[in-house]
Amino acid sequence: MARIVMKFGGTSMAGIERIRAVAARIGRERARGHEIAVVVSAMAGETDRLVGFCREASSLYDPREYDVVVSSGEQVTSGLLAIALQAAGVPARSWLGWQLPIRTSSAHASARIGGIDMAALDRALAGGEVAVIPGFQGVSEDGSVTTLGRGGSDTSAVAVAAAMRAERCDIYTDVDGVYTTDPRIVPRARKLSRVTYEEMLELASVGAKVLQTRSVGLAMKERVRVRVLSSFEDGDDGEPWESRGTLIVGEEEVDSMERQLITGIAHDKNEAKITLTSVPDRPGSVAAIFAPLAAAEINVDMIVQNVAHSAGSTDVTFTVPAADLPRSLDVLGTARGAIGYDKLVHDTRVAKISVVGVGMRSHAGVASTMFTTLGERGINIQAITTSEIKVSVLIEEDYTELAVRVLHTAYGLDAE
Ligand code: ADP
Ligand code: ASP
Ligand code: MG
Repeated sequence: MARIVMKFGGTSMAGIERIRAVAARIGRERARGHEIAVVVSAMAGETDRLVGFCREASSLYDPREYDVVVSSGEQVTSGLLAIALQAAGVPARSWLGWQLPIRTSSAHASARIGGIDMAALDRALAGGEVAVIPGFQGVSEDGSVTTLGRGGSDTSAVAVAAAMRAERCDIYTDVDGVYTTDPRIVPRARKLSRVTYEEMLELASVGAKVLQTRSVGLAMKERVRVRVLSSFEDGDDGEPWESRGTLIVGEEEVDSMERQLITGIAHDKNEAKITLTSVPDRPGSVAAIFAPLAAAEINVDMIVQNVAHSAGSTDVTFTVPAADLPRSLDVLGTARGAIGYDKLVHDTRVAKISVVGVGMRSHAGVASTMFTTLGERGINIQAITTSEIKVSVLIEEDYTELAVRVLHTAYGLDAE
């Protein structure tokens, strides 16, 4: 007998038929004698729809009320799954975020989990009941409903697994594992049997949305064994759990023989580029740009400061999340006097392409392969950032798919 967490994403919960199939899968795991907590997403498309309502109601909506609205999708699916489980003869009940409770910070729309009270959950599991927990939601200290940021049900699942000391956290989704790149863009992408926490963290943070970045960080910190699997494969065909999907593990568990130079490639179209022209080339200029952005809690990602013109000024280019572009322009407009730039130019038709791999630490030439490959295809690079295990470039959005495909081939990642 083991304690396990099973998380089902939006596509797996989209409609009663699929919810019944999920209930059947949970019933099979329970029949093996496991204690099971299930974390569910809203039906596919539902959260987008709810976000749309908030925007329609007011462009400057109150984040507290936004959370009340958008958390409701998961309330619906958790109740429906509990009903489907009961109908299949499996004792089950739902536990909303405020009922357990799942305690979070009060940062609405991107709250962080502080802790999960286990008392009620322990009793339910010990009594043989399946606990169905809506993902994405929690409750702040003042009793307000909060949400964890888009894709946050993954983080709920890992947090529940850590609190329960679960043996494993199975993330059921609409692909059968983590691939070398998004298999919907590159059909020749290869499934990875194991990925290290570090690599998955980088891949997720640069756009591989198969797992929410925070969920990977939490799994790494709490050493939760996370497996990404398909909810559409039967799974009862005798294939052992150990060989299905992709396991996210510590670096020591990845055989050095199977380690590749590059693990994967990700893309992100949700960034916007801002350029300030003719910024005075003197100490404090850069601080005058980024301090007010930081004060407005806007995350700046890539930064390029060009060589000074002879006139003693320089252009500064950087990226921010596209959703924060209007606020960024507002902040920079207000700070124009203090910064002293000439023009403020922006562009949302950009994409960030990143290659990730721990093998980079010990091998030179990864970045130059990237630049050469893109150059040969006539793809211009507008900005670059690197970390120890990642190289990212900013390019024109229209070239996203082409860039990912040619890089996938250039690094030898294509499946046979
Ligand atoms: P869920 O609703 O189950 O949480 P998501 O849509 O959030 O599912 O995540 C699954 C999707 O992630 C896949 O359909 C796939 O298009 C995308 N994806 C992006 N990069 C990768 C990758 N490297 N490997 C697998 N899937 C990826
Ligand atoms: N339903 C939420 C979203 O679409 C959370 C999740 O599915 O992980 O972002
Ligand atoms: Mg997701």
